[in-house]
Amino acid sequence: MSVAVCPECDAEVAVDVGTRVAEIIECGDCRVELEVIGMDPPVLSQAPEVEEDWGE
Ligand SMILES: [Zn+2]
Repeated sequence: MSVAVCPECDAEVAVDVGTRVAEIIECGDCRVELEVIGMDPPVLSQAPEVEEDWGE
């Protein structure tokens, strides 16, 4: 297991070794969704917010 830093709150976020780039993980501290943008070393970026679907 590796550890990356949350770009939102600077908390350390555990990243499983089996995690792949582009996977979304959640910061256990601030609960923000983070996209894995690199795994060697693990780097996280805040995931783009998904817009609400206002359709019926
Ligand atoms: Zn965080």
